[in-house]
Amino acid sequence: MQLLKCFSNGTWDIVEADEEFFYIQEILKRESWLAVRLGRAQLKTKEDVLDYLKTGKSLNWDDEWYAKIKMDVSEQLPQEEMVKCDCGHTVEKCSVMSTSSGSSCPDCYDRMSM
Ligand SMILES: [Zn+2]
Repeated sequence: MQLLKCFSNGTWDIVEADEEFFYIQEILKRESWLAVRLGRAQLKTKEDVLDYLKTGKSLNWDDEWYAKIKMDVSEQLPQEEMVKCDCGHTVEKCSVMSTSSGSSCPDCYDRMSM
């Protein structure tokens, strides 16, 4: 997964492989007091840091508001499969409902159930 760093103008840029160690070290140095202050478990290893970033949250490596890194998790989001229902509408697979006259989108459920 790609790590991203934030600049003071609010834009994000790729963390190069040789920079990654530095940022993670700085984050781990802060964890001893920061985790307590935030009331969460302390991140103790590089793996802990990466697992935390995988949740989509960012971590500060310095006190400046922009001194933070995050992981680009956008490509990790599962692409929901789109399905065409018998009502004629195309919806995400998880939204498809089953009725007496076939599959239906949530909007047409009442009409299709009759
Ligand atoms: Zn429909």
